[in-house]
Amino acid sequence: MMKLHGEIIAQSNGDVWTSAPVPETNSLAKVAAAAKECTACPLYKKATQTVFGEGPKHATMLMIGEQPGDYEDVAGKPFVGPAGKILDRALEEAGINRDEVYVTNAVKHFKWEPRGKRRIHQKPSSRDIAACRPWLEAELRLVEPKLVVCLGSTAGQTVFGPSFRVTKERGKVLSSRFAPKVVATVHPSSLLRQPDEESREREYKRFVADLRVAVKAAEAK
Ligand code: SF4
Repeated sequence: MMKLHGEIIAQSNGDVWTSAPVPETNSLAKVAAAAKECTACPLYKKATQTVFGEGPKHATMLMIGEQPGDYEDVAGKPFVGPAGKILDRALEEAGINRDEVYVTNAVKHFKWEPRGKRRIHQKPSSRDIAACRPWLEAELRLVEPKLVVCLGSTAGQTVFGPSFRVTKERGKVLSSRFAPKVVATVHPSSLLRQPDEESREREYKRFVADLRVAVKAAEAK
């Protein structure tokens, strides 16, 4: 049965944040369909649609990003924009096909502010992340991955708490209550923000090296 009203997390200027109403089901498709209707926090108002996770139901590896971007918001699919292209290429170099991985985000609606005609990414707040967390927890429970990859600090802090630092912990095999093994690395969008070609190439290589650690850990017993 659908839980219609979650617990209130915060209220501000007429907006309300509640914990997302995840239906009690073992069907990932039913959870994804319910997420399409989610209004548990204000982010749905300015976004085009919910961008739920995608990938095989029982994928060995589940990757968590921050939130959908401009391209993802329009397409309704995670990691299809420029950062997604980098992720696809890096996964291939690390020895795993994107189709074998379940890919999702900590927050399922695009948070943005207008700048001229452009929609500029805004970092989700802790109350946005808390409101959306039940969707991510449902994905983790139903996919039951052997290994989770946290892409960037929002994903890392969603899994490990606010004191988690990707810069310190990247490329290590950690564990959490969500999965026996967790590897954190940077978000691929950070590679797009590098100031020059040399640093972009260097950071890309580090990203692939972190993903190789994840692939090896997922293959190990
Ligand atoms: S961001 Fe998450 S909690 Fe907020 S409306 Fe969208 S799906 Fe619901």
